[in-house]
Amino acid sequence: MARYAGPKCKLCRREGVKLFLKGARCQMAKCPVEKRSRPPGMHGWRRRRPSPYAMRLREAQKCKRFYGLLEKQFRRFFAIAIREEGNTGENLLVLLERRLDNVVMVAGLATSRAQARQLVGHGHIEVNGHKVDIPSCLVKEGDVIRPEPKDNVLEIARRNREDQGHPERGWLSINDADLTVQVTRMPLREEVSVVVDEGLVVEFRSR
Ligand code: SF4
Repeated sequence: MARYAGPKCKLCRREGVKLFLKGARCQMAKCPVEKRSRPPGMHGWRRRRPSPYAMRLREAQKCKRFYGLLEKQFRRFFAIAIREEGNTGENLLVLLERRLDNVVMVAGLATSRAQARQLVGHGHIEVNGHKVDIPSCLVKEGDVIRPEPKDNVLEIARRNREDQGHPERGWLSINDADLTVQVTRMPLREEVSVVVDEGLVVEFRSR
């Protein structure tokens, strides 16, 4: 599957917020967003008032980059969100939060979405006892996610959780003994990881 392979910190600097694309480094003082807040590029220091179009574009880009998606993948999720009942923006964010790679990341089994995606893509994650190697797979209520029962995989997942201080999520029940993660319910809007104005994202995509 296609993915962005360029410099990650540049993306955060462009959006002006931390997108947490580099695992442990994102928590350190040397994170470039902490050190300098100007956007990348020769004219990054110029301060211009963004146009309404630019504001909508930036919110859509922030959302895509946070979850590590390219345009085509993002468009597919937006099409599903439109078809579902309720608020399209909220539907979109909840769908993105339900991606298997995101669940592996927010459960603390990986330190970044890129690492989570690699764990899934290499077949190291099981859903309901079956290997699933599709990072965009959507989890549903009752699903049980766990690392493949191999010593090296379990060791990586355990260490990642420890390093991140055993993170918890209201919609996930995480068992530290066997590293299983059960989806107890769908995530709520306020539990979504990305800080974004979904209304502007929808306006941008519906233009
Ligand atoms: Fe780089 Fe992480 Fe900081 Fe983003 S949050 S600028 S990826 S260190």
